[in-house]
Order: sequence, then C-alpha cells, then structure tokens
Amino acid sequence: MTVADPTSSKDSLRDALGRPLRSLRLSVTDRCNLRCSYCMPEPDYVWLPKKELLTFEELDRITGIFCTLGVDKVRLTGGEPLLRSEITTLVRELARRPAVRDLAMTTNGVLLAERARALREAGLRRLTVSLDTLRPERFLALTRADHHARVLAGIEAGRAEGFPLKLDTVVVRGTNEDEMLDLLAFAREIGAEIRFIEYMDVGGATRWTREQVVSRAEMLQAISATHGAVEPVGAQGSDPAERFRLPDGTTFGIIASTTTPFCRACDRSRLTADGTWYTCLYARSGANLRAALRSGASDAEIASLLRVGWRARTDRGAEQRLQLEQRGALAGRPELRQDPRLEMHTRGG
Ligand code: SAM
Ligand code: SF4
Ligand code: SF4
Repeated sequence: MTVADPTSSKDSLRDALGRPLRSLRLSVTDRCNLRCSYCMPEPDYVWLPKKELLTFEELDRITGIFCTLGVDKVRLTGGEPLLRSEITTLVRELARRPAVRDLAMTTNGVLLAERARALREAGLRRLTVSLDTLRPERFLALTRADHHARVLAGIEAGRAEGFPLKLDTVVVRGTNEDEMLDLLAFAREIGAEIRFIEYMDVGGATRWTREQVVSRAEMLQAISATHGAVEPVGAQGSDPAERFRLPDGTTFGIIASTTTPFCRACDRSRLTADGTWYTCLYARSGANLRAALRSGASDAEIASLLRVGWRARTDRGAEQRLQLEQRGALAGRPELRQDPRLEMHTRGG
C-alpha cells in the first residue's frame, strides 16, 4: 500500500513562513515599447535570447502544474505583454483551465486599443493599465515615447469591452506627485480603481533615491487634505494594495512596498519569459524551469521541484530592505547587464 505524502496536496503547501502559493505572474516578454524612468532608465539593455523564451505550450503546461499546487490567480505581465505576438492565443489556453479562477493582465496600454476586444473574447477577466500622468508632455519625458494618446485610447477600449479596470500609478517625487488628485478624479470618472504605488528600489530602478519616494503616509495626507478623512476598506489579505474609501464612496489603493511592506502575506510567484522561477521580486536567484521543461521531466517531477522550492521559501525582500540604514538601488548597471533577470521589466511587476 502506498502511503500518501501528507504535504503533497495543494491545500497543505505552505512556505517556511506558512504562506500558501496562490498567485503566479507570468512575464511573457522582457521587451517594452516604453522606457519609464523608474523601470528602464538606461540607454540600452541586454535582452533574453529569443530561443530561450518559453513557448505558449510551455507556459500553459507550467501554469497547469502551478495550479496543482494551489495557484488560482494568474497575471500576464512583462516587459510589455501586448508585444508578445498572438498573446490572445495564450490567454485563450489559460482561460480554459478551470483552476485559473482569475486571469488578469498588467499592460502599459499602448497597444490595448487594437487588442482589447480579442483579449476579452479570449477570456481575459481583468485589466490593469499603468498610467502615471494625464499630461502628454510629461508622459513623453517620463517614458521617452510619444504614446500618451494611445494609452488613453487603450484605457477607453478596455472600458468599452467591459473589463473591470485598475490603473497603476507609480508616484515619484518631482515627477508626478502633483497629479495624484487629478488621476484619482480621472479614475473615478471612467469607473476604474486607481492604485498609487510607492517608488521601489527594485532591479532596474538604477536612479532610485529615498528622497524621491512619496510614502503611503504622504499620499494619504495629500488625498484627505482635499477629500476629507479616508477610511480603510476591508482587510488587505494577500493583496499588495491596501484599499481606502473617500467620503463620497470612491475607492482607491496604495501599494506601499517601500515604506510599509506586506511580505508576511505574500503568496506570489514570478516566472520570467525564459522560464526562471522567482519567489520574490527582490530575489537574487531563481530556479531554471525551462531546463526541466525541455529535458523531458514529467509534470509530477516539475511539481515536486516547485513544492520543494516553495516549502523552503523564506523571502521577505521588501521587509529586509526596510531595515537597511543605507538604501540605494538594488543592483547597479554592470550587475544588471550581467544578469538581466534582475530587472523589473524581465521578472514582471
Ligand atoms: N509594462 C507593463 C506595465 O507597465 O504595466 C507591465 C510590466 S511593469 C514592470 C509592471 C508594473 O511595475 C507597472 O505598473 C510599473 O509601474 C511597475 N514598476 C516598474 N518599476 C517600478 C518601480 N521602480 N517602483 C514601483 N513600481 C514599478
Ligand atoms: Fe514602463 Fe512597464 Fe515598460 Fe517598465 S515594463 S518600462 S513599467 S511600460
Ligand atoms: Fe513578496 Fe518579496 Fe514583494 Fe515581500 S518583497 S511582498 S516577499 S515579492
């Protein structure tokens, strides 16, 4: 008689700090059509070799294996996920998996107007569009690309297709902190929920300084000075965003990974486009799942590798960074060029 491994079922898979594995972020490409100053400020980048990118079949298979371990939320990200050709084919495959309860995408919106309908039809459930400014000239300075109108058109197309929409805004002092209230009003007008993100010292953010971080506390103060007292909405759970409500009922979120990290509830895993698995945004190294996928390993063998990796997980990257007295960018340019997987645009946000 075989004795079942009591820790092999998804219900009991916990990391070393008791956190379950629920959410998978698939970075489908490291390429991007913008150069946001907080993410890709450099003049040039080292890209992942094309032949090493996971195929849609591989991405779908690996997602299925993650699902057997408890993942039920999948987010497509990048780089810019809409640059991956035929991305709707992948969406359709993933949407067919009953275990994938929540299928979402984070996009910069530049190509969204052309793709929104196809994405909706393929089964994408939710969209998050990054929008840091309502001013075209500021967008150009921030991203080095003249695509502001296309982003707004993309947001409108997402809305017209009936997607539940979120807007993500990285707030950087001296860049766009003066637009928080306008962005909040814009989001309310279009029926989206906006989340203000603290500037993070992740890989890629080579120009990060503490002074440029607009903290959660400052954001709340700026918003309540105009709108009146804000109240928290529900418990944060494993969601990176803390949600708040204005007196008029408008809700918004704050992702305060820099000053108030939430690692204790983190159930997220990340896969780069070349199949490297990271269990923390700040992790220095990851596991090469592409090698396992391409060496003929069975689903059970790969699941076992993931189970072992997750059980050993002790990551608390943002909380550890908070304890540093001297804090600067996580990685310098030479290190990033040597290992482009350290980049935010490679491992996904
Ligand atoms: N290109 C897509 C986009 O921008 O929506 C998806 C990938 S992008 C890496 C995912 C998210 O990471 C974006 O919302 C972006 O604002 C966020 N991000 C990138 N660098 C960041 C930083 N240094 N601090 C905080 N958020 C950052
Ligand atoms: Fe901006 Fe996203 Fe591209 Fe980074 S990956 S440069 S955040 S659009
Ligand atoms: Fe999760 Fe790492 Fe982010 Fe903490 S820093 S919330 S452990 S991904």
